[in-house]
Amino acid sequence: MRAAWIPGLLVAIAVQSGCRWRPDREEYSRLAIPTMATVTAEDRRLWEEADEAESRMLEQGGLHRDPRLEAYLMRIVSRLLPEAIRSASASVRVHVVESSELMASAAANGAIFVSTGLLAALRNEAQIASVLGHELTHYLARHASIQQLANLETGSTVRRMHESRRLEREADEVASWLVQDAGYDLAEFERAYEIIAQAGDLSDVDAAWLSHPVPPVRMTIIRRIVEGRKSGGEVAAERYDDAMVDVLLVSADIALDRFEIDSAQETLDRHLARQPDSPRGQFLLARLIQQQDPKGEAAPAAILAFERARKGIPDDPELLRAVGLTYRKVGRREEAIEALERYLKLVPDAPDGAILRAYIEALGNS
Ligand SMILES: [Zn+2]
Repeated sequence: MRAAWIPGLLVAIAVQSGCRWRPDREEYSRLAIPTMATVTAEDRRLWEEADEAESRMLEQGGLHRDPRLEAYLMRIVSRLLPEAIRSASASVRVHVVESSELMASAAANGAIFVSTGLLAALRNEAQIASVLGHELTHYLARHASIQQLANLETGSTVRRMHESRRLEREADEVASWLVQDAGYDLAEFERAYEIIAQAGDLSDVDAAWLSHPVPPVRMTIIRRIVEGRKSGGEVAAERYDDAMVDVLLVSADIALDRFEIDSAQETLDRHLARQPDSPRGQFLLARLIQQQDPKGEAAPAAILAFERARKGIPDDPELLRAVGLTYRKVGRREEAIEALERYLKLVPDAPDGAILRAYIEALGNS
């Protein structure tokens, strides 16, 4: 167990002294397939707790359930696993959490969580492989129980944090080899961290036990890990956006709700580039146009997008309400009445029902 701690220590020393340091090529040979039979008693307890927490999450919802997306992420996991432990993929599953935060975490039982916000922020498969490689290492190298042990051994917060950062560095280092050996471009490993650093830092949701180094320090470590190593290899940006087409939509929707216009625009552009006629995409486009145009000068463009959306989702109440109000604003009375009446028929006790009925009456009288 102690031996596994040494490479992390070397990283710390190398960074502090500024000397050249090369990560150990064989570092990940220590990765093993954890099973209930092989782990320690402490580990088993963590595993069972993780099972319970995972079941609760599955019951409570809040996950973006998409079997096609989960299968795609699992293919990357399998590709990352070295031949000798490829069968470990049977004990891994990836859950997608609906959240605009950039989050990824690995639980002691092999459940990996990534957020829709993170998936949308990353630009290609090599980048998500970098994050998954990091989380896989936490799981396969039993970092949760190593941290737990450290927490029990010391009352010092400083030492606990030190241990936590050391494990982060180890996960980064091992991930870099997993990514390179899987044939992905290592340059994207660094870029993935740049994207994450720009947004703040990656937070490990599962846990108080993991804290990440502050971004500037971590970026220094990441650059040292990849420095001088070959780049080239697969990036797979197209395949990534194909797989993320729905996630991009979810993410654009959240961004719009938060009035994060630039982020919404970028994400929606990527979605519509893959599915130009997507009704939900067109609906979000109409909302985006309206957010960018508080004076209503671009109403015709918004209406065009609303109408394209209606072809696919004619009975979406939210859409009917929005398009009805927009028709009203531009004086298209008949169409306004039709859309708003249809909305009220679908949602008879809408909270704004009284106001909308008054609008309809006024429109009919004018
Ligand atoms: Zn981590």
